[in-house]
Amino acid sequence: MSSINRVPNEVWEGILSRLYPSQLSRMSMVNKNLNVIVSSLEVWPRMFHAAYGLEAQLRPLMCIPKAKSSYMIFMCASSLHVCEKCFGLTGYNAHKLYWLPLPIPVLLPRRSTDMIKYVGDRFEPNWTIQMCLLCRQGHISDLGEPVPRNVTNCSMAWVDLCDKYPCANEARGLFSLRRGNSFINELGAFNYMRRYFGGDIGIKAFKTSTEAYDAETETRILWYQRQE
Ligand SMILES: [Zn+2]
Repeated sequence: MSSINRVPNEVWEGILSRLYPSQLSRMSMVNKNLNVIVSSLEVWPRMFHAAYGLEAQLRPLMCIPKAKSSYMIFMCASSLHVCEKCFGLTGYNAHKLYWLPLPIPVLLPRRSTDMIKYVGDRFEPNWTIQMCLLCRQGHISDLGEPVPRNVTNCSMAWVDLCDKYPCANEARGLFSLRRGNSFINELGAFNYMRRYFGGDIGIKAFKTSTEAYDAETETRILWYQRQE
């Protein structure tokens, strides 16, 4: 018997209740016992009904059997569109990718001494959860993000800024921050765009097509269906 299996289920449930859904789904892959515990947690039907409505039924949506684990499987498959913090569903066919939930680094709840793991300018994907635009905006204003090395605290011509950040034109209100001329402080503009697009990941998402992202969701749903 492995040491994981010697921990009583109630203890596991206490530990797991502090984790976000994507962290839970990683835990469910550890072994069969944890998979059973994680997939029967109340969080999955709660997340499902928060996203799709109290009246929603699992079966007509996905044609998968209505077992307890199906909620987890369905939520994992559709997680690219569901915010793990507010459980809100961001609609398919969104025209802008930054409107959708995107991975952003988080601290585990109640572990304030932990540091977010950054590798260079990029963060460790295992320390991320998917958050909608509104939750990302709140999260980065609380937590902040390190300033990338290629962002200067200098004045920059508006045309050069738009050249370096094609999303600058999209960030409504940024244009009026210019100091009466055609120049703007790059760091100030960058922080404005971070707030507007919901972090660095939102700024980067500007270049990605929503179609490609949705195709990925479809592939994931098919993959999860085969696991049942
Ligand atoms: Zn949210």
